[in-house]
Amino acid sequence: MPDEVKDKCGVFGIFGHKEAPYLTYLGLYALQHRGEESCGIVVTDGKKMSSHRGMGHVQDVFDGNHLEYLVGDRAIGHVRYSTTGSSNIKNAQPILVDYSRGEIAIGHNGNIVNADILRSELEAYGAIFQTTTDSEIIIHLMAKPALRNVEEGVMDALSRVEGAYSLVFLTHNYLIAARDPHGFRPLWLGKKDGAHVIASETCAFDMMDAEAVREIEPGEVLFISAKGVKSHKIQTANSRLAHCIFEHVYFARPDSKIFGETVHLVRERLGRQLAKEHPIDADIVIPVPDSGNSAALGFSQESGIPLEYGIIRNHYVGRTFIQPSQGMRDFKVRVKFNFIKEVLKGKRIVVVDDSIVRGTTSKIRVKSLRQAGAKEVHLRISCPPHKFPCAYGIDFPTREELIANKYSTEEIKKYFECDSVGYLSLEGMLKSVSFPKENYCTACWTGKYPVPFEGIDKFHAEKGQ
Ligand code: AMP
Repeated sequence: MPDEVKDKCGVFGIFGHKEAPYLTYLGLYALQHRGEESCGIVVTDGKKMSSHRGMGHVQDVFDGNHLEYLVGDRAIGHVRYSTTGSSNIKNAQPILVDYSRGEIAIGHNGNIVNADILRSELEAYGAIFQTTTDSEIIIHLMAKPALRNVEEGVMDALSRVEGAYSLVFLTHNYLIAARDPHGFRPLWLGKKDGAHVIASETCAFDMMDAEAVREIEPGEVLFISAKGVKSHKIQTANSRLAHCIFEHVYFARPDSKIFGETVHLVRERLGRQLAKEHPIDADIVIPVPDSGNSAALGFSQESGIPLEYGIIRNHYVGRTFIQPSQGMRDFKVRVKFNFIKEVLKGKRIVVVDDSIVRGTTSKIRVKSLRQAGAKEVHLRISCPPHKFPCAYGIDFPTREELIANKYSTEEIKKYFECDSVGYLSLEGMLKSVSFPKENYCTACWTGKYPVPFEGIDKFHAEKGQ
């Protein structure tokens, strides 16, 4: 696996709006679910850039004062999540640098799989990196003296990087948006009061009453300036489409449209398909909030078993200083979820969740449901068993830590001490989305990585593939 930081993030950009900083702030607010570790905004008035970044949620990092000194009608913003090892303000984005062609800022969602090789090459020529993110590599590639201008720089750099990227760049004169040729991560073009807007997901447009114009095409780069919008195509040998279907299963917001479809409706179909594949005689269907809500609705509609709310989520957990008191077991789950005994007592329950990763929360949840009086607990999962880590930007643990890699479904049932476990099949999942199945990346379930990376053979060999 590439050794670089793996980011699951959200990006936003706007060009030509007098309220650009504030709208970027609103956009990040809507994209908060894509990254809760750090966030930032870079703004320009066409002459100079100003920026503010910080660790934490958008509401904690920005207040009215920050937005007052961010002056300009063009801006980009970023929310970031990363593995804990790289939790560092230096890696917060957008990255802003002053290079030979002036100031440039970049915000990245995804993971560049040839980052190690490119970084070593660049360092061999004397490049000094400020961060450990793969995103900075793109700026170094753009800075080559032979490249005459920003357009050439961006196109040349992107023809060299491989993997997943939905990017926003800001220079004094341009807002640039780029999506990798495989279309791993979503990226949208919108319009607000005549200004061009870019966002990872359409929920950011809804927040500010912007119109969602279209998805940026896989391999497309948009150069947005005072002269209008120019579209370029990235030259690549491998243009296999690979939309991350896990965005639909879990990651994107249900009220967003990505890869041509509304996420909630896809999740509902996943739930319906799940009910067809794993029917069960039960009294109520309950979702694990919020990630299981839409699929649970679909399961209930298909099976005719009534939907109920038996698990309630505390939305204010965030970064808490509450310490588990001595003897308080399963604290992490208890602080986030509570169980309504009056709903659960004596009932045969189908619990619908989007995915099982390590299995820690599911195990504790089954126990809590039993403690709340559930007579039977049947787990239904709206995607197949996760067996492989993601190389393209979703933060999963190593293969060894993924529970479906250690245990069969029957063993998982025993380990969770539940009455049955049913995962949606790969075919069933792919049937629930509208593009042909070859257009999606399913690597985290199948181990078939659509864009190869250094070490992939070793990775498979080590794990006995
Ligand atoms: P666990 O099985 O205890 O590791 O937790 C699984 C739950 O975490 C799932 O039900 C999802 O809602 C959520 N989840 C899935 N993938 C991720 C991810 N990459 N990062 C954070 N949470 C995730």
